[in-house]
Amino acid sequence: RRGTADASYCFYAGEMANSSLRRFDLDAALRRALDRGEFLLHYQPQVDLASGEVIGAEALLRWNRPGVGLVSPLEFIPVLESNGLIGAVGEWVLDEACRSCRDWQEFGGAPLRVGVNLSARQFRDGDVGAVARHAIDRSGLDPRLLELELTESIVLQDADSVIRCLRELRSDGIGTALDDFGTGYSSLSYLQRLPVDRIKIDRSFVTDLTSNPNSSAIARAVVGMTHSLGMTAIAEGVETEGQLGYLRGLGCEAMQGYLFSPPLPGDAFVNLLRDGCRM
Ligand code: C2E
Ligand code: CA
Ligand code: CA
Ligand code: CA
Repeated sequence: RRGTADASYCFYAGEMANSSLRRFDLDAALRRALDRGEFLLHYQPQVDLASGEVIGAEALLRWNRPGVGLVSPLEFIPVLESNGLIGAVGEWVLDEACRSCRDWQEFGGAPLRVGVNLSARQFRDGDVGAVARHAIDRSGLDPRLLELELTESIVLQDADSVIRCLRELRSDGIGTALDDFGTGYSSLSYLQRLPVDRIKIDRSFVTDLTSNPNSSAIARAVVGMTHSLGMTAIAEGVETEGQLGYLRGLGCEAMQGYLFSPPLPGDAFVNLLRDGCRM
């Protein structure tokens, strides 16, 4: 079990008081970042709650900004979305994640999956399915080992075309997960129409699981609903043994969180696989 804290980001809000100047500066630096190879992926292990084994990882984007250090995606992804660079960066993320996942297959017994986050603009601007299939072809990864994570906001912006895209992904064997579940506005009948394989229970419910009866009621309802729709549940942001035990009791299939491991650089994740680390 890894108890280390997540790599701390550099927030440099104080350095530049003028926020529009700061935005301009960020925008210019991000335009160069892809060509200069400043993006990287960290991988947060996902663990099966029944076996305690690592079953895959979520790929999380990092920007190693020269002279600054690792910048949080919460800070630069909104910029990439507004200046349209998210398409190119998202393509890079898919390529890199598929290549890494293919390399992981030499470790461990069961096949290891990789989860990739998608933003709303990627769905609006381009053919996400085609980009994913291209990444799969280039890497030679089994499509069943790629899981695309989308949020309720993506689905809400254009439900019919997103559902069509999800059906295509499914027919290609690519997996899908609904991220941050419970924070949006999806109704049960709506979720029923969505061809997704997994529901990710948002960290906000997991955090209060053992202290707030409302959160535990929501988590229980989400897991129950997930199962009745034939999907599986994974909890994010699990930090304590108490939360883990509670989720196990609910029948949640998998989890990720600092209790097991923070997101790791690619080589550290490979070392963890090599050591056969389990919960
Ligand atoms: P997310 O998809 O909800 O990812 C989970 C976030 O929770 C990650 O933050 C992860 O480091 C953090 N986390 C994991 N376990 C724990 C825990 O036990 N406790 C706490 N407090 N936090 C935990 P991160 O890496 O900063 O990513 C933030 C968000 O940025 C992600 O939220 C996702 O929405 C977005 N993101 C990251 N990579 C990509 C990407 O490649 N493309 C797109 N479009 N979005 C991305
Ligand atoms: Ca995610
Ligand atoms: Ca999430
Ligand atoms: Ca979340």
